[in-house]
Amino acid sequence: MSEELFRRSSAVTPGGVHSPVRAFRAVGGTPFFTRSARGARLIDTGGRELVDFCMAFGPLILGHGHPAVAAAATQALSDGWSYGTADPYSLALAELIASRIPWAENIRFVNSGTEAVMTALRLARGATGRRKLIKFAGCYHGHADSMLIRAGSGLAGTGAADSAGVTPGVAADTIVVPLDDETALVAAFAAHGADLAAAIIEPLPANHGLLPQRPEFLRELRALCSRHGTLLIFDEVITGFRLQFAGSAGASGIRPDLVTYGKIVGGGFPVGAVAGSRELMRELAPLGRVYQAGTLSANPMAMRAGLATLEALLDGSVYGELESLGATLESAVAATGLHCARSASLVWLPGGPRAAQAIRSPAQIDAALTAPFPAMFRRALDAGIYLPPSCYEVAFLSTAHSRSDIERLAAAIAA
Ligand SMILES: *Cc1c(COP(=O)(O)O)cnc(C)c1O
Repeated sequence: MSEELFRRSSAVTPGGVHSPVRAFRAVGGTPFFTRSARGARLIDTGGRELVDFCMAFGPLILGHGHPAVAAAATQALSDGWSYGTADPYSLALAELIASRIPWAENIRFVNSGTEAVMTALRLARGATGRRKLIKFAGCYHGHADSMLIRAGSGLAGTGAADSAGVTPGVAADTIVVPLDDETALVAAFAAHGADLAAAIIEPLPANHGLLPQRPEFLRELRALCSRHGTLLIFDEVITGFRLQFAGSAGASGIRPDLVTYGKIVGGGFPVGAVAGSRELMRELAPLGRVYQAGTLSANPMAMRAGLATLEALLDGSVYGELESLGATLESAVAATGLHCARSASLVWLPGGPRAAQAIRSPAQIDAALTAPFPAMFRRALDAGIYLPPSCYEVAFLSTAHSRSDIERLAAAIAA
């Protein structure tokens, strides 16, 4: 059945999918088509039930179809689903975030993580009057042109386009620096400091495996940004509201100048957000000279779903529950001898045997670690378990997962 749907889909959509990793090219085989989802389960169009460890790549910390989120969205639906005016729901969501996260005094809602990053970068350039950006190899920030850049040749050199359609002019303004490398960081600031509008980082990189950074590295980055008048942007699209309510910045105690959110903030609906100090955020239109707008921004259904999701996270018990599930998963995987990196409810299972040391940068990821992934993915799928379909994607736990789901996963991936 999925073969036929995928054939039809490939006839009307590039690669048959609307976001590349969904095509299963990294794992082989034909992607299944999901008909519905509930809790920690996906049901495909053939009626097969799969335990979902991908969870839509991050937004669904409460699981699929959570009753409180469903109730909020259903109520929103009956109240009309797009106003194009000011509304009380985005106000409530902004107040909830601003009251809990001191560095998010002001918030602007957009429709995706990509859009949040785009806005944060333009804001940084507008506010500083500078041109260049630092990003880190191994961090993902969505698909804005200036972020689709890989390291060029030469230390502290400018980047090269990592996608066709990105101009050399754009690439020249993005400096790509390795993670976990203070020396390279210092060199990049020494070479470009006066032109650097912003440095953007996933404070816990979770899009190229899970690459936890040493606190000293993040502190050095914070210090260099402050010294050079460069704005530090934490891209917390995955980590925001997931590691803890205040995300990675809350967990590390290191404060960004701007922060981007996505995924959980919309509870599974299309929402992104950029946040920062009142002083910086007033650079955005209509107050300031940095333009940004959106027909569907702060869509009321999405705002109410996001609000219901964040409200469920407020008392903190969810994080305790997820930590304990995560620890169970980690020890069950350890018993199989496979590599497992974990931070709270983010889990990276690259498929290979346990590595001797913590992996903090893409350069440390070798073929032995990832080559077994497609076979492991397939083993899991045959056993009714859906892992994210790439060795570089992390798995996501939700409150809908049970200990027996985790035991099934561990049994399935054991070779
Ligand atoms: C997912 C993600 C993005 C992009 O968000 P989209 O909603 O897919 O555009 C940006 N940054 C990080 C860290 C992400 O994980």
